[in-house]
Amino acid sequence: MEIPFHRPHITDSDIDAVSNCLRNGWLTMGKKTIEFETRFSRYTGSAHAVAVNSCTAALHLALKCCGCGPGDEVIIPAVTFAATAEVVTYFGAKPVMADIEKDTHLIDVSSIEKNITGKTRAIIPVHYSGQPADMDSIMDLARSRGLTVIEDAAHALPARYRNRMIGSIGDITCFSFYATKPLTTGEGGMATTENPDWAERMRVLRLHGISSHAWQRYSVRGAWQYDVTDAGYKYNTTDISSSLGLEQLIKADRLNSLRANIAERYNSAFSSRNEFLPYSVLADRETSWHIYPLRLNIDALDIDRDDFIVELSKRKIGTSVHFIPLYRFSYYHELGYSAEEYPWSEWVFARTLSLPIYPGMTDAEVDFVINNVIDIAEGHRR
Ligand SMILES: *Cc1c(COP(=O)(O)O)cnc(C)c1O
Repeated sequence: MEIPFHRPHITDSDIDAVSNCLRNGWLTMGKKTIEFETRFSRYTGSAHAVAVNSCTAALHLALKCCGCGPGDEVIIPAVTFAATAEVVTYFGAKPVMADIEKDTHLIDVSSIEKNITGKTRAIIPVHYSGQPADMDSIMDLARSRGLTVIEDAAHALPARYRNRMIGSIGDITCFSFYATKPLTTGEGGMATTENPDWAERMRVLRLHGISSHAWQRYSVRGAWQYDVTDAGYKYNTTDISSSLGLEQLIKADRLNSLRANIAERYNSAFSSRNEFLPYSVLADRETSWHIYPLRLNIDALDIDRDDFIVELSKRKIGTSVHFIPLYRFSYYHELGYSAEEYPWSEWVFARTLSLPIYPGMTDAEVDFVINNVIDIAEGHRR
């Protein structure tokens, strides 16, 4: 048996949706995108949804809305994908890294607070693995200091914080539809917000600063007339992607429960064993289980995380690490960050790997992963 780290969940209905779009002949952003945005905002309970070509683009446009500029600071967790930090540098602003919580891998609110200065403009919490960060505390803190909250929800569809859908809580929420994400369009992203002015601004900026109604008049005479009201970007999506997104959205809840079943089986196999340390999902959160973090109790093993990954790959099981803390990369290290400032990010990094978790995994494949993980751990007890 060979188990890749990820397989996208694409069925005939997805393929039909894309073929229909190709047959209809309208390929780029048009009616299907408007429909996808409408359904997406309904699904997440948000007032507005703006489709773009990546989560990175959504984060960039979100920072633009909050007026980020040179010299500003934006607080992000140290443990995230590079995209969360790089968008801040687009503005000549500084990504300021906060430490994470040991057991949830979510941004630590007390570390956010310690890092707020007179230059702080925004906070970007990351809903690591699909588990929402502590949004009430983060929103309260941001409101009291006049900061904007932009959620990096690349993993978090669907996810709930205290019974509220992610996408309806922060000032702007950014989703990813990258190939490995819970809802995929190959590449793609979405920004949701309650603020109509920001939604309109993002609609204009995503397509060259062209006044947003111009591209919607694709079938009307006189559509050649438009105004450019801002220096925009080429961040629009396509109707090909949106057709796939619409189909994937219909299945989002079902796929989510399939991932949750796998997580449940992993949890019950590993939780009673002292070679592993459980990852916590808090009682007031519902996670999308985009990532299943396996945490090794390295004090009970004579093998470290890196060698554990090698052992799994010898047994043809694909794994990954989410994430290498940003300060470990040369670019961010040179900005002046170092590991000593991030005790829990380091602690998590030394112990954690991500196991395969996707709807197409069969019971036999899940068992194969479980049996091999346990076998390796038992063979390496200290
Ligand atoms: C995947 C990911 C992104 C980037 O998403 P794209 O759609 O590829 O731009 C951003 N943040 C996190 C935490 C991610 O995992």
